[in-house]
Amino acid sequence: MPEVSIKDQIKKLVDLQTIDAEIYLYKRDLREKPLYVEELKKRYEDKKAGLKALEEKAKAIQVNRKAQELELQTKEGDIVKANAQLSLLKTNKEYQAKLTEIQSMKADKSVIEEKILVFYDESDAVNADIEKERKFLAEEEQKYLTQKKEVDDSVKEIEEKLKVLNLKRSQITPDISKSNLSRYERVLENKDGLAIVPVNGNSCGGCFMSVPDQVINEIKMHERLVLCEMCSRVLYLADDL
Ligand SMILES: [Zn+2]
Repeated sequence: MPEVSIKDQIKKLVDLQTIDAEIYLYKRDLREKPLYVEELKKRYEDKKAGLKALEEKAKAIQVNRKAQELELQTKEGDIVKANAQLSLLKTNKEYQAKLTEIQSMKADKSVIEEKILVFYDESDAVNADIEKERKFLAEEEQKYLTQKKEVDDSVKEIEEKLKVLNLKRSQITPDISKSNLSRYERVLENKDGLAIVPVNGNSCGGCFMSVPDQVINEIKMHERLVLCEMCSRVLYLADDL
């Protein structure tokens, strides 16, 4: 490969920078877009866990209610039995004692019935919450899936664009020496995708600090790549190319 002059290499680097600026933005999109989808997914999963907790609560209330209903049945059986025993009792005292016992069982029965009603009320409240959450969750799921598809499509599109840009890049890089290219790429990496900048007036087009005359003279000599002393970006003079 014939040696390409520094001046021509700088021209190539400027062309490369246009491509790399685009690549930089696309790569940032590729990093950030999936994160956004992850966030939506997490929100959806959290909601799902919340719904599951509510469903478990509903189940627990039902189990407790069934236990009380069983106890109610037992109590009712006991009352029927006690009533049947009444007619068999010989003395008034025994009769009165049995009546008191029945009264007490009836009072217990009322307490159990009251508990069962409370469980029904709790079930109604929880079931209403569950229905609301299910509806909300379905909406969240739809939102998440729609966004995911959008991002997936856009990721594919970006990957295609990156392929094209990288191809363009590979047509330029052979004209730049390995050491100059690697210096440029290092700065690109460290300086947010902006590695080569024009000197505007007397200031660096990257960090806007002033560039000494001596440095400007060095750029004009085209002997090597000249870096900004403040930000290390490669400097060039637009009029000079
Ligand atoms: Zn600078």
